[in-house]
Amino acid sequence: MNKDLHMVREDLRMTMQRRAILEELRRVDSHPTADEVYEMVRQRLPHISLGTVYRNLELLSRHGMIQKLEGGGQRRFDGFLENHYHVRCLRCGRVDDVEIEPIAAVDDVLQGLTEYEVVGYKLEFVGLCPQCRQKGQHAHRGLDATEAAEEQKSHELTRDTGTEEER
Ligand SMILES: [Zn+2]
Ligand SMILES: [Zn+2]
Repeated sequence: MNKDLHMVREDLRMTMQRRAILEELRRVDSHPTADEVYEMVRQRLPHISLGTVYRNLELLSRHGMIQKLEGGGQRRFDGFLENHYHVRCLRCGRVDDVEIEPIAAVDDVLQGLTEYEVVGYKLEFVGLCPQCRQKGQHAHRGLDATEAAEEQKSHELTRDTGTEEER
């Protein structure tokens, strides 16, 4: 038997720990960080290590069983695989789902414009979450300009340049 194939099969074996991680992740729509997943899984498996959680999250995402959300500093995870969009808070890093229909036309725009075979795209809205908006209003005067600028960005496509760092 092909050795690589065997290894893949080994990887995908559902250990008790791996299953617990997957189940906990699918219970929430908060797009937790690895540390947050660790806290959740620890309620069920008190002896699980943070390293095991990190490793299994990477493994599950590599096998397409969960989504890894990168960009904006903190790496977050999503147990839901259906095509959906996210909005990320520029201040605290919170990520929520946004309820809009997938925009099919975006794929077509690139047809013929690149040598790549385009198989998908990533779209992330950015802005300020309700908590951060409230905090901003109480704490600072003159924040409105910042907010307006940040809201303007909210329809930009995510670029993987890493220029938009967390504050
Ligand atoms: Zn926020
Ligand atoms: Zn999501």
